[in-house]
Amino acid sequence: MSTREVILTGDTPTGQLHIGHYVGSVRRRLELQDTHDCYFLLANMHAYTTRSDYPDEIHYDTLEIVRDYLAMGIDPKKSAITLQSETPAIAELTFLFAMLLPFNRVMRNPTLKDEIKIKGLGDNYCFGFPLYAVGQTADILAFRAHSVPVGEDQIPHIELTREVARRFNKLYCGIDENVEDDDPIMEENGVFPIPRADVGKVGKLIGTDGINKMSKSLNNTILITDTPKKVKKKLGQLYTGRQSMTDPGDPESSLMQYVDTFITDTDRAAELKDKYVRGDNIGDGHIKVEIAAAISELLEPMQERRAQYDGDDDTVIDIIRDGTERANVKTEETLAMAKEASGLGFFTRKISF
Ligand code: ATP
Ligand code: MG
Repeated sequence: MSTREVILTGDTPTGQLHIGHYVGSVRRRLELQDTHDCYFLLANMHAYTTRSDYPDEIHYDTLEIVRDYLAMGIDPKKSAITLQSETPAIAELTFLFAMLLPFNRVMRNPTLKDEIKIKGLGDNYCFGFPLYAVGQTADILAFRAHSVPVGEDQIPHIELTREVARRFNKLYCGIDENVEDDDPIMEENGVFPIPRADVGKVGKLIGTDGINKMSKSLNNTILITDTPKKVKKKLGQLYTGRQSMTDPGDPESSLMQYVDTFITDTDRAAELKDKYVRGDNIGDGHIKVEIAAAISELLEPMQERRAQYDGDDDTVIDIIRDGTERANVKTEETLAMAKEASGLGFFTRKISF
């Protein structure tokens, strides 16, 4: 059995991946895939929370996300790319964990509330929409993950996950509530380690609207597949509110976040920032052109790698099947442990592929 720490994170196939995913989560995954047991989940069931009337698009986006993973450098031999809908232990744990969480606690989750507002769901969301927050606790705990590389919007979900893990370990494994989260007893005597959120330097990349988080559902993204021309055009639309090149600029603006994130020459980044903040004859347009060039330079090798999988669904599906098989070994083991601890264990079962 592997003694390496387990990493679980994933993406919902509500569209293609964007540079916010890269800097917020995928870049960190690349650093971890040599030294950790990594599972990257395609959360296709969760895509149905807002798009159940578009099953073909969800199916298509699921394959596209895998192409984006491969483009960004995720290596399917090292990391298991896993399909949520074919990992049944996740659904079963979701049901069980839903019993351990007060309804009002789930509904208080600020990320859920934000999503309802930003995506304009009003009162018209399905029962499964808030349930996905419970589902996400099961996504993570099914793998007995130690760490979850995510953007900052996911912190409330990880906090909920930590609560479920603590409650389960206390209720069904007799772990005293005063035991610290990182005490080895938690994992030795309990079923679940208490997972940490691993938020990188760029926890929230602002979208090309200059206001909201870059988000698949908000039409404010720069996609991994965008051509240099498209990148330049989209960045051109980035709202800054600055009137002239001699206006002192805001160092915290979205434009400066892009400079910090994508201009890899740190001297040049510092120079641009200094001129911008002082209003030293530097226009937003000029800065945007430099950022666009840096982003396209980052994307070029990704797009070359991605092109190898264009139109080849069979290879992509083989990669998912292999990753999902590995995920089922891990998650079935967790499920059996959880059932045994919680009174649901009667006999063992086997899932075959
Ligand atoms: P949706 O609009 O459907 O919610 P999304 O663009 O927010 O899509 P998710 O699938 O919800 O993408 O997020 C996948 C992962 O990428 C999460 O860890 C999330 O925190 C991270 N992420 C998404 N957008 C950004 C961003 N703009 N900056 C940093 N991290 C991000
Ligand atoms: Mg999201």
